[in-house]
Amino acid sequence: MGTTTEELYEKSFGISREVTDFSRKVLKELADDFRRIDDDAEYNQACVVAAMQKEGVAEMHLSGTTGYGYNDEGRDTLERVYADIFHTEDALVRPQIVCGTQALNIALQANLRSGDEMLSPVGKPYDTMDEIIGLRPCPGSLADHGVTYEQVDLKEDGSFDYDGIREAIHPRTKLVEIQRSKGYSSRPSFTVQQVAELIRFIKSIRSDILCMVDNCYCEFVGREQIGDFGADMVVGSLIKNPGGGLSPCGGYIAGTKQCVEAASYQLYSPGLGREVGPTMDMNKLFYQGIFLAPVITAGALKGAVFAAKAYEKLGFSCFPASTESRADIVEAIELKSPEAMIAFCTAIQAAAPVDSMAAPEPWDMPGYDDPVIMAAGAFVQGSSIELSADGPIRPPYTVYLQGGLTWEHAKLGVLMSIQRLKDKGIIRL
Ligand SMILES: *Cc1c(COP(=O)(O)O)cnc(C)c1O
Repeated sequence: MGTTTEELYEKSFGISREVTDFSRKVLKELADDFRRIDDDAEYNQACVVAAMQKEGVAEMHLSGTTGYGYNDEGRDTLERVYADIFHTEDALVRPQIVCGTQALNIALQANLRSGDEMLSPVGKPYDTMDEIIGLRPCPGSLADHGVTYEQVDLKEDGSFDYDGIREAIHPRTKLVEIQRSKGYSSRPSFTVQQVAELIRFIKSIRSDILCMVDNCYCEFVGREQIGDFGADMVVGSLIKNPGGGLSPCGGYIAGTKQCVEAASYQLYSPGLGREVGPTMDMNKLFYQGIFLAPVITAGALKGAVFAAKAYEKLGFSCFPASTESRADIVEAIELKSPEAMIAFCTAIQAAAPVDSMAAPEPWDMPGYDDPVIMAAGAFVQGSSIELSADGPIRPPYTVYLQGGLTWEHAKLGVLMSIQRLKDKGIIRL
């Protein structure tokens, strides 16, 4: 007789029968949710393959260029594939964009000039935007270049403050940034339909205001594309969902021809623009990554739903709740104590395929007021489509869980976290 999965869990990872029994009960309630996630993955997989076929992706596109990168057919074809997938006129997809933060900076700097104002109608944006906007002074920030910033907070219930937004828009308002995913905040993440309504409202006030959407963590969650609803730019990171776990770096800016062209001059140089940009050995990884992305994202989503359902049963508040519809792959769990946060992150690290021996500790990260704890044992440094957990150590001690290149690995991480909290006497099953 071979070993059962339960025996293997117990022997190799210290996960007790009590925890695997509990997990079986949790999973029984998730059949419908998992089916919906699989149906969306099937739909999105078909979209990606259709786009690749439409653009005639061929073997020669899988190799790259060096130096200036002139005539890189693989790169240019991949950008058309992205534009098809995100329902935009054009796209810039480059290994020279390191991550999402840089992609956002390029999109903003390219389309804002001295005297213009940028507006965030969804409250304070992601932490790394502070220096880009100049909320924390930094050379080269938008503030440094004479671009001002205005913000309208969400209402108490997490909805858009339409009256406040109307008042905040004036003749200098040039661009509105709409961040979909919540980041390290307690607000909800926004679905395509919610953002579509917001864009419609803004364009009804002044149709020439550029609407830029921070799409980080939201790609291939659901079926709709914000490109269909008036977004001038859609921006994201290839070390999150659309990289499919294979992209070693990269970012994308999909949008109107004019906005994407401006971004290409900002990234490289006026005059050069998108004609340059060597892809070296990246083209194959970028193609294979976007090909796998719908299914990789589905695995991460199952992990998030499983964590929500399990931790709700254990008496913790989870955002989104296990029964709510989702706009991104992030699950926020209010763990109520620093000990629980550390135990949770320690377990996620111990479940990793790489660096499982490391013990995450809270540290004072630049740009954060409270110590931050991070667990990630990833193939690609900082990749958060891989199973990872993090959060600032402050009440109500919320840990943000995301990723998992496979559902099976996300599950293993969640099981180990439950076991660890149980061993520490924080929970009882
Ligand atoms: C991750 C993230 C970013 C920044 O992306 P990096 O790749 O980490 O630089 C920006 N906005 C949101 C909402 C994010 O989740």
